[in-house]
Amino acid sequence: MPELPELQALAERLDDALSGTTLRSLDVLQFSALKTVVPSPFDLTGNELASVGRRGKYISFDFGVARALVHLSQGGRVDIEDPPKKTRPKGAVVRLVFDGAPSVLVKEYGTERKAACWVVEPDAEGPLEGLGPEPDTAEFEAVVVSGDDGRQLHTFLRDQKVVAGIGRGFADDILHAARLSPFGALAKLDDSERRRLYDSTTTVLEEATERERERAGGLPAKMGDRFTIHNRHGQACPRCGDTMRRVSFNSREITYCPACQTSGKVLADRRMSRLLR
Ligand SMILES: [Zn+2]
Repeated sequence: MPELPELQALAERLDDALSGTTLRSLDVLQFSALKTVVPSPFDLTGNELASVGRRGKYISFDFGVARALVHLSQGGRVDIEDPPKKTRPKGAVVRLVFDGAPSVLVKEYGTERKAACWVVEPDAEGPLEGLGPEPDTAEFEAVVVSGDDGRQLHTFLRDQKVVAGIGRGFADDILHAARLSPFGALAKLDDSERRRLYDSTTTVLEEATERERERAGGLPAKMGDRFTIHNRHGQACPRCGDTMRRVSFNSREITYCPACQTSGKVLADRRMSRLLR
């Protein structure tokens, strides 16, 4: 799924291409995808797009009178249609049509969690309410430096109320960069481990965002090899050359390097352990 780096770079591309243009219509192509009733999407028609930004994993289209927020969830992707189209492709969720500019089509490729759209008053938070700070903030740094969260670090990093924008993929890459076990807990880290966790979080995300800025257009179904660790179990660790492993936990898969992250210990696959019990 798209995480902070892909969404940040996408927001920047959309902002470059579309800011200052006038919205002709926001077409809801799948009714369950629109999560708000008031304001209506029709209220946005004829308004100039002031800017496109990102908060957490949400893309925000600011029209002054209201904002349209889009969340791509697991399988949501974005097509930039130039020239604009009028078709309704499979999985189409919502299309933003602009005067004299490309259209933005949000599509759903996944089967479970759906991409969705909200239209909110300019000063209303809508679905952004309760989101934690962005990773590169003093607020998140303070949480890492002095917090006592007892959950597994992989879960902690993906909790949008703790820090906004990180998912499974970059959680793997960040914990590898920090040389910390995905099953360790913040509360048990010493000062230097906490420092590594914060620094790795910002560095991994910044570097990934830089790479994403090379991309043109929307976000395709296959976003390519964005990760250095995630999904690369069986391959050699880029730092030490040991074979990277994968462990399944609560229907998600975590990739890690035993030598770099777990003192050489190969973690039990909880799914397998359950079957064999
Ligand atoms: Zn390693």
